[in-house]
Amino acid sequence: MKNELLKEFAEKLRHIELEEPVNIMEVCGTHTVQFFHTGVKDIFPGNLNLIDGPGCPVCVTTNDYLDRAIEIAKKHDVILSTFGDMMRVPSSYSSLQKEKAGGLDVAIVYSPLDALEIAAKNPGREVVFLSVGFETTVPTEAVCVKKAKEENIKNFSILPGNKLTPPAVAALLESGEVNLDGFILPGHVSAITGVKGWRFVAEKYKKPCVIAGFNSKDLLLSTIALVNLIKKGKTGIINEYKEVVKEEGNIKAQGVMAEVFAPADAEWRGIGVIPGSGLLLREDYAGFDAGKKFPVTPPPVKEAIGCRCGEILRGLISPLECPLFGKECTPASPVGACMVSTEGSCAAYYKYTI
Ligand code: SF4
Repeated sequence: MKNELLKEFAEKLRHIELEEPVNIMEVCGTHTVQFFHTGVKDIFPGNLNLIDGPGCPVCVTTNDYLDRAIEIAKKHDVILSTFGDMMRVPSSYSSLQKEKAGGLDVAIVYSPLDALEIAAKNPGREVVFLSVGFETTVPTEAVCVKKAKEENIKNFSILPGNKLTPPAVAALLESGEVNLDGFILPGHVSAITGVKGWRFVAEKYKKPCVIAGFNSKDLLLSTIALVNLIKKGKTGIINEYKEVVKEEGNIKAQGVMAEVFAPADAEWRGIGVIPGSGLLLREDYAGFDAGKKFPVTPPPVKEAIGCRCGEILRGLISPLECPLFGKECTPASPVGACMVSTEGSCAAYYKYTI
């Protein structure tokens, strides 16, 4: 797209007139970062507020999950394997990084398939993959568990911590805690769920929404389209990421997810238990569930004193309203998960506003 056209869209957004405050939520952590990174957030017209949603998988993973993982590694001498951004997330009493420094066997991997390879190469050790992520990563995790079963790799398991995003949006709307006029929906997640996975937002809750990609053009066009819907008092869903997102989504990915995982209730940091928002391994794959394979009783859960991640993930406050932001809590010394993850709101605000 030519720069001239981008400038035209930017001017269009900048000059939208809003008589009343309008609150839109970007559900996805990558969008949180991209709104800053592209500068699109800087040209929002007065009265248009962008509220960050709960779309950072590392941020919404509870202390209890991390406590359990650490306890499994300690009690059962397993190799924990995880994506790198989980390493520095504070648990109730520690973090994976601190535990690794203290001698716990923790491997950073880029894919669950790397963890499976570690298991295949170390038949004498148990390998547990921390399965944390949204719809975008679940299909690979499902393929990995299937492969472990097919290849009879019995020393591999996952600690299920995956979450589904549409139930979280439904929970926010049901709670009525935050006044939202519309949603920018996550492009990558929608590539899996399809447009149909989000229709309930417009149909049941009467909130307009736009599925958006991630570059400047995507964010500009999506925001303009959403604000236009809101101004006209229309509900409905617009797919502004048609090159990637189809009505039905990725049927193949949905199929492998449904074969391996079954929906279950799951606890989200700061939000609580959301019905049908988690995924547990189906009976056929229960032997790969580290939670069942390695029973533990983690110590009582403790939350970081003063950390307001929970309210941020519910869209109630901005990171700038947390008294610890930029003082006791920085990316170099994070108090809460939202300051650790590259997709976390606090980390994004720190990077782009300080
Ligand atoms: S700034 Fe730090 S302490 Fe405050 S909410 Fe964010 S992560 Fe928690």
